[in-house]
Amino acid sequence: MPTQTKENYLKAIYFLTTSGEAVTVTALGKSMQVSKPTANNMIKKLAANGWINYEKYKPLQFTERGELEAALIIRKHRLTEMFLVEIMGFGWEEVHQIAEDMEHLKTEELFDRMDEMLGYPTVDPHGSPIPDKEGVFDRKSYASLSSVGVGGKAELRAISDSSVALLQMLNEKGISLGTKFTIIKIEEFDKSMVVNYRNAEEVSLSHEVCKRLMVDETTYSVRVSKDLKS
Ligand SMILES: [Zn+2]
Repeated sequence: MPTQTKENYLKAIYFLTTSGEAVTVTALGKSMQVSKPTANNMIKKLAANGWINYEKYKPLQFTERGELEAALIIRKHRLTEMFLVEIMGFGWEEVHQIAEDMEHLKTEELFDRMDEMLGYPTVDPHGSPIPDKEGVFDRKSYASLSSVGVGGKAELRAISDSSVALLQMLNEKGISLGTKFTIIKIEEFDKSMVVNYRNAEEVSLSHEVCKRLMVDETTYSVRVSKDLKS
């Protein structure tokens, strides 16, 4: 079994764990797009490696070693993405696939050097946290733009789904991390939002897009209720 495959399973378990989902064989199979028996087979191998604890009919759990291993792969992935964007001038929509390959390299020094050159960033170009060498990262909880009410203001901090198509669309609309939105109107029919940003004219964003835009309301929040009172 190639190491790369094992590492991709570790990542999948990591993402399921951090999203708060129970890591079952079914969930893992679905996320890796393999059959249940295939997933089951791999789980036995990961358990033999000492990366996960597995009891039949119970959700999988990382061992401390397994969790660190997964975090370090994600660290390499996100450092690569940041390096490609910040140092090499790639667009944020161009870097994921390259990072998918780079994350399996064993040359730790390369990634340490990237980290240093970047000034030890804590987030990647899509706003996802970069674990440090101990696997520790700041877990920030953002709200999705779709949860902000009319009159609310919110700043874009992360994209929950960094698919090329979505990122390209955001590029076309001039939306990037740090963009400050004001919600003008929410359509009752399909929950699409009319928003204002960067002094742009009013722009309509679909609910599917708004759901994936993770924003920080705490600093810029103007609640409708508060507006009405003042
Ligand atoms: Zn990526």
